[in-house]
Amino acid sequence: MAKNDYEIVVGLEIHAELKTKTKIFCSCSNEFGGNPNTHCCPVCMAMPGALPVLNEKVVEYAVKAGLATGCSISKDSKNDRKNYFYPDTPRAYQISQFDKPLCNNGYVEIEDEDGNKKKIGILRIHIEDDAGKLNHNEFGAGSLVDLNRAGAPLIEIVSLPDMRSAKEAERYMKKIKSILEYIEVSDCKMQEGSLRADVNVSVRKKGDTKFGTRTEMKGMSSFRSIVRAIEYEAERQIDVIENGGEVFQTTLRWDDISGRTFLMRDKEDAQDYRYFPEPDLVSIRLSDEYIENVKNNLPELPESRKQRYLMEYGLSEKDARLLTASKYLSDLFEGTLKECSNAKATANWILSDISRILNEKEMEADQIPFTAKELAKMIELIDKGTISSAIAKKVIEELFENPQDPEIIIKEKGWIQISDEGAIREIVLKIIEANPQSVADYKGGKDRAIGFLVGQAMKETKGKANPGMLNKMFIEELSK
Ligand code: ADP
Ligand code: ZN
Ligand code: MG
Repeated sequence: MAKNDYEIVVGLEIHAELKTKTKIFCSCSNEFGGNPNTHCCPVCMAMPGALPVLNEKVVEYAVKAGLATGCSISKDSKNDRKNYFYPDTPRAYQISQFDKPLCNNGYVEIEDEDGNKKKIGILRIHIEDDAGKLNHNEFGAGSLVDLNRAGAPLIEIVSLPDMRSAKEAERYMKKIKSILEYIEVSDCKMQEGSLRADVNVSVRKKGDTKFGTRTEMKGMSSFRSIVRAIEYEAERQIDVIENGGEVFQTTLRWDDISGRTFLMRDKEDAQDYRYFPEPDLVSIRLSDEYIENVKNNLPELPESRKQRYLMEYGLSEKDARLLTASKYLSDLFEGTLKECSNAKATANWILSDISRILNEKEMEADQIPFTAKELAKMIELIDKGTISSAIAKKVIEELFENPQDPEIIIKEKGWIQISDEGAIREIVLKIIEANPQSVADYKGGKDRAIGFLVGQAMKETKGKANPGMLNKMFIEELSK
């Protein structure tokens, strides 16, 4: 059978670090980084006898995440010990949730390969603590443990095996990231590991109703490697099956450099963890009023923002979707419109030049260095005719390099548009004289020659001439 006769099945377990001020079971700072072992106390260092106390904010944030993804919130939930040894986990168990997670049975909507809406089911969302970190000595002289991250609060969002391609998995994870950013429970910095996924992949023959055996790749924290890893792993499994072999349930490690997976260990089962209810914590009881209150305080979510952009600003479906996919781009859009009223232009600048520069600089939208007010000012300068859009492109570049009031930028750089009639005429006459062929073309009926002449004039003035005036005046002069 060919590769095309198989279907890929993917399920993700997404871990998101919550941005509460303090850790999940103690009052240590939950800030990222810091000198090794400076955000620690007896509780998160697992000193015998130290007792955990559950951080209320962690519950609130997890409930927010559950409500934003259509989950039902459990009014009766608890913590459980998940026992395993790992050098960065001095307690030798993680405090997680086993049979009574906080949130159950939700979904998010993505677009499938054909652009149709598709629901990806969420089995559960539970809370748990993060492990510390091992710093491996690069010369092989051992490893040092840093417990600053031990006890950082996490939610784990477990999807159903509903995704059918690497691209769908990517879209699903992007959707989750966007929602978590909107509800402000996680900063989702993948490069700092605050959003990562265990990626489960299996394959089956198209038409089969039973799932194939899955393998799992742990702790993946970039969209690119997730897509590559799923594609590689699916192909590997198809090869195994096609050659008469069997896929075993294992945990694998994806290696970005060699572009392949390696066996880490055989799969452990839930029973290997010897889960039992955490005796040092009371169960979590939530009232209807509590849940209702969290629900009423949820901020606007991407989908409803998108609908609003269609109605309020008349944006296209695509532009509204792209803008609202990122809370930061969408906030920039709204902030800009507080200062200027040109919604279409604002959307265009954000989705074209600003997005392109972010891409080139490999920056995230929350790292945009200039303010909405500065962007609004630039759009006003275009609308008033003070600068051309060619100059505005340079202003945007400058705003990334050295953000300040665009009015000051154009003054300092001498980028103010030439709109003086006398000056424009002078340029037009000069360009006409230097380009007899184009003039002849135009007079011979080739209207497009005007475009070339305007282009020459823009070049001559380094983009500063008012293109509308140039156009008009060329036609005027050449019709004489
Ligand atoms: P564990 O923690 O042991 O990995 P979980 O039940 O927490 O088990 O997570 C299982 C994950 O694997 C879920 O995201 C689920 O969607 C996914 N999954 C389960 N079966 C398959 C399968 N056959 N193919 C792909 N993914 C699967
Ligand atoms: Zn602590
Ligand atoms: Mg797993």
